[in-house]
Amino acid sequence: MSLSQLARSICESPTLKLNETAALLREKGEPVIHLGGGEPKSKAPIDAIVNCSALLSTGDVKYTPADGIPALKKAIIRYTEEHYQRLAAPENVIASSGAKQAIMVLLHAILDPKDEVVFPVPFWVSYPEMIKLAGGVPVPVTARDGSFQPTVEEIAEALGPYTKAIILNSPNNPSGVVYSEEFVAGVVELCEQRNLYLVMDDTYNRLIFDGRAPTNCYRFSKVHNLDSSKLVVMNCVSKMYAMTGFRIGWAIGNRELIRAMANIQSQETSGPAAPSQWAAVGALNGVQSSVESLRLTLENNRNVMVNRLAAMDGVKVTKPGGTFYCFPDFSAYEKDSQKLSRLLLEKVRVVTVPGRDFGMEGHLRLSFCGAMREVTEGIERIRWALDPSAPNEMFLGDRKLVRDWR
Ligand code: GLU
Repeated sequence: MSLSQLARSICESPTLKLNETAALLREKGEPVIHLGGGEPKSKAPIDAIVNCSALLSTGDVKYTPADGIPALKKAIIRYTEEHYQRLAAPENVIASSGAKQAIMVLLHAILDPKDEVVFPVPFWVSYPEMIKLAGGVPVPVTARDGSFQPTVEEIAEALGPYTKAIILNSPNNPSGVVYSEEFVAGVVELCEQRNLYLVMDDTYNRLIFDGRAPTNCYRFSKVHNLDSSKLVVMNCVSKMYAMTGFRIGWAIGNRELIRAMANIQSQETSGPAAPSQWAAVGALNGVQSSVESLRLTLENNRNVMVNRLAAMDGVKVTKPGGTFYCFPDFSAYEKDSQKLSRLLLEKVRVVTVPGRDFGMEGHLRLSFCGAMREVTEGIERIRWALDPSAPNEMFLGDRKLVRDWR
């Protein structure tokens, strides 16, 4: 078979693959606990459903402007004003099929072959592959102190003549860490000094705990006119409104960049699906109580997961400040995260994502976006599988398990 070099260099999204694995095992009746997932279990807000159904019931579902319908741009502009105190024009906004497509068209718009994009480790699994798809070179930066947030100096050391952009994702998938304001301010300054794009992936920035406020990157910028700025803010309805399947994300940036992104998107997909765009308008303009209720549920789940993990000997856990992911270090039990993740799936039917996929060996990403029962039972099964002090037998439904792997 003759596939392109590019196709051969790209791997499948491990997070999406694990969703399929969990679903297939469940279909077979296996008692799977899915701690690998990246989507809230709650339903989409009613305002999203009403808006979407209203369009569908007309049967008149047609092309839209490639960069989004005016009503969605208006809703995104209002959202940006409320949460970032920045006034964007419609020309500063593009709506895409998920934040993923917005990032992809952005990379296509700014990268020439060999251009580099710098981002901290651990990173969301898709950044390196997306950068490669756009012909660029991913440059992950690991903190020397082993923490989840490198210093501004470490980021600066990774910059070179080919660097085009830095991506920051805070709160961070997979660590849940909310980068400090000093760090974000320092990176904004660095990008403005070096004339680099700074892509702020704010997908999780409404899902923050412990009374902290989301970081507004614009506060640190010296450039007040959006059209002179190389700061690009990305977001989506997927996580905060539990609307992953609608696939609506967006970017705010200078109009020259947004126009280039819109041109690329118009050639690639003609723009996001009309019913999804109307659903996003409903979510953004409608009653907002679902966001706070999700945030509270996640904070509670986070507390339970962290407490139970901390009670396991040898597991090092950093309390996530946001998202719905926790990224504990299991290297005291097993250094190879893929091996460990496979063992947990095979032996106790718990789905986890190996740390290696996020650039950090020895860790596993555990999601707490499911029901509380999944969180408690998932951690209990992991503890049983790994902790030498746990009893040697356990029941999974009516199936008796005997631990014979350590
Ligand atoms: N962003 C989520 C995750 O990391 C959803 C899957 C994906 O698009 O990667 O699990």
